Amino acid sequence: MNSPSPLYFDYAATTPVDDRVIEMMLTCLGRHSEFGNPASSGHAYGSAARARVEQARHQVASRIKAAAEQIVWTSGATESNNLALKGIAEAFAQPGHLLTSALEHKAVLDTAAQLEQRGWTVTRLLPDADGLVQPETVRAALRADTRLVSLMAVNNELGTLTDFAAIGELVRAHGALLHVDAAQAVGKLEIDLGRQAVDLMSFSAHKVYGPKGIGALYVGPRAQALLRAQMHGGGHERGMRSGTLASHQIVGMGYAFELSGEPGDTEHRRLQQLSQRLHEGLLALPGTAVNGSIRQRVPHTLNLRIAAAGFNPGALSTELALSSTSACNSASNAASHVLLALGLDEQAARSSVRISLGRYSSEAEVDAAITVFARVIGAASKALW
Ligand SMILES: *Cc1c(COP(=O)(O)O)cnc(C)c1O
Repeated sequence: MNSPSPLYFDYAATTPVDDRVIEMMLTCLGRHSEFGNPASSGHAYGSAARARVEQARHQVASRIKAAAEQIVWTSGATESNNLALKGIAEAFAQPGHLLTSALEHKAVLDTAAQLEQRGWTVTRLLPDADGLVQPETVRAALRADTRLVSLMAVNNELGTLTDFAAIGELVRAHGALLHVDAAQAVGKLEIDLGRQAVDLMSFSAHKVYGPKGIGALYVGPRAQALLRAQMHGGGHERGMRSGTLASHQIVGMGYAFELSGEPGDTEHRRLQQLSQRLHEGLLALPGTAVNGSIRQRVPHTLNLRIAAAGFNPGALSTELALSSTSACNSASNAASHVLLALGLDEQAARSSVRISLGRYSSEAEVDAAITVFARVIGAASKALW
């Protein structure tokens, strides 16, 4: 990377691994460490590794108030979403109806499209003007053959919240299952699967200061009997996901979840203040507006629309690392499907940026970002005169 490095404002795309997590992971790697295969039941190396994996399973489970046996390790939230949707779909002899939203991550949308190929009917709900999928909208779209509803807890582009607990109640009353993609939710809002009516929930470590390539799927009691494995070979994870457990990744994820904090704690309040500062500074600039609800969202993520004609988000990139469309869409360079679903036109979607804060964001960085925005927006408007 060229120096000086741009300031990092893309925590919603990924987070650096916390130093404490790195140290923990190292204890599962080297020859003097607990490197064994957790499935090697015949010797001490295996049982030591097994114990570490089970400890991590408890750490993840207790973070979301679930039981350890309800956690299935995967390679990340993408795989968890695939396992949840395809794994439930395959339990039914006849294709049914899947209810989701147009705001979901591609890992849900592309999987839903696969199920469509298999004869499933998919409804992609549009959000209201604030980018919210309301429980009433979900209720109205439930059909007699709705088997599964899949909605995200926190939108990765907007930071907006879905009231998944309320939706869970009505989905359950209807007799369908609810899957929630919670990749952006851990440490940011209350997850209590003992109380919330969620049947399947996807997690990823690298959004929470853990390593990439590891995630989990919570499988609740109603989903347990239905879920069909998508990866076969050895029957690991009680048959739900085969493959040698990536013990160092798993241990990293467990610890990262334990360290992830919760709403109301000091770190959350610090981020709220930073977010407030960022918000006020940016909205004071000419032609700026927030995409998505200002009230029903996490403080970490702000999606800003910049109406200054001639503004090009690319002009920010030498100084600020942020996202002008979600990282997964950037590969195709398409305008954000989330912003389009929100009703923005192509031009407005392309002049929007996502700024996301995290554990290592500081007030000085926020102030520097506001200064860069002010300069780039100012230059864009001047160029027109
Ligand atoms: C990052 C993300 C994913 C994908 O997670 P991976 O672990 O990178 O596969 C899925 N859903 C949401 C909402 C995300 O933010």
